[in-house]
Amino acid sequence: MVEYADDEQGGPQPVEIPRTAPCGAEGQGSCCTRRHSVRERKTSPGHPLVVMVCKTHKRYFTLYPLGHMPYGRTPVLEVTAEGRPRSQALSPASLRETLFAAAVDASESATLWPRDSEHGRPSLRTQRRQVKRAAMWLGLDAPTRPAEQMAHILDVDLLLHAQVHARYRAASTTRSRATCVVDLLAALSVDGMLLIRLLRAGHLAGVCPEAWWWVPGAGYGYPSFRSPRRSLPASVFGGRPGVNDLARS
Ligand SMILES: [Zn+2]
Repeated sequence: MVEYADDEQGGPQPVEIPRTAPCGAEGQGSCCTRRHSVRERKTSPGHPLVVMVCKTHKRYFTLYPLGHMPYGRTPVLEVTAEGRPRSQALSPASLRETLFAAAVDASESATLWPRDSEHGRPSLRTQRRQVKRAAMWLGLDAPTRPAEQMAHILDVDLLLHAQVHARYRAASTTRSRATCVVDLLAALSVDGMLLIRLLRAGHLAGVCPEAWWWVPGAGYGYPSFRSPRRSLPASVFGGRPGVNDLARS
């Protein structure tokens, strides 16, 4: 993931082209990256994405704007170009354009999706599947030990997570399960590290490929899952020391 910004021609372009790639992160020689092509996108983020190639390791990788996960059609979170959440709290309104939208809709009684899919519109079956995926993402659709681990990664109060987890496991309808998802999202701390915490939780739950966050000016990428080898510059996250919390977990 990189920061995209409008260039002089008007289209969003990466602010900085990564000089290294995930393929070179394990010490198998230095990457030699260059811009390869662009991929047109019909779905979010609605603008072409730059495809890179590493000539050393003969690997291709796509630069997504911050907030998008690899191969995802919908943002994980609505964030600014620098990766900070756009909202002060994860209210239902702030989640409408994210992959948690199905849970938000299902938690509100009037907006269950149609039972039968017409003309490619999403169906109730899709909504149920997406609610389950959102619950997996947050450690609710999981046994107790992994759920506790997920609470730690999400930096949410362990007792609160356990209570919502118990409610989720006892829930018998899509709506009540979705309400648990929405309640837990509302309890997350909204700060500059939220996106990386969510990406990390999604990766651990097996519902999100590993993403790398290229830090402009720093000269390295930051993996969403593995512990960082060094701290991010304070400017990236407004000086909040949360990255060290991630390193401990
Ligand atoms: Zn490489």
